[in-house]
Amino acid sequence: MRILIVEDEGKIATSIKEALENSGFVPEIATDGEDAWFRGGTEDYAAAILDIGLPKLDGLSVLRNWRNEQVNMPVILLTAKGSWAERVDGIDAGADDYLVKPFHMEELIARLRALLRRSGVEKQTRLHAGDLVLDTKQMRVLVDGNPVNVTPLEFRLLNYLMHQRGRVVSQEELASNIYYQDQEPDSNAVEVLLGRLRRKLKTDIIQTRRGFGYIIGDGE
Ligand code: CA
Repeated sequence: MRILIVEDEGKIATSIKEALENSGFVPEIATDGEDAWFRGGTEDYAAAILDIGLPKLDGLSVLRNWRNEQVNMPVILLTAKGSWAERVDGIDAGADDYLVKPFHMEELIARLRALLRRSGVEKQTRLHAGDLVLDTKQMRVLVDGNPVNVTPLEFRLLNYLMHQRGRVVSQEELASNIYYQDQEPDSNAVEVLLGRLRRKLKTDIIQTRRGFGYIIGDGE
């Protein structure tokens, strides 16, 4: 699941990125308002974490532009301490939630998950499909009640497909939602990854629709 981080302070951006990666998300960083506005409008993100004070274009203007252009992803605003006026402006501009700096990464992740649940992107913290259970809070995969050792990349793949259940996901869509920005996967990387994951899971829950992509069925 791709999340856009808009933050010009390198240290904060990096720690948010790390916290998101450790929670199974695929974060990308934009460091100025214009870049954020453009990417939010042209790329597909599950949510954005948006700082207000930004070079080129401030965060509130980015948010207003997005909302005017029907870019409706959930947005968490990062605001300065004590600035209640900023928060009111933020909610008016279309923010779904806000966090006052400095904040704990655990709180940011919890708010993000709650927001994704409210917006219907993340359904529950425990997802079921047949005899497979994916726990996004504990980052665990169980088959028939037995834990399966998966890598973070395999977890992200399974997580994305589980959230798109009943829909065929193309190889490109899958790749862009599981690989990090600076990783350039080979053309057959997803296929290889899936083969390995299927062997670990020992279940045919992930099906291939040749020429179209992959699907985890509804089980109905
Ligand atoms: Ca800033």
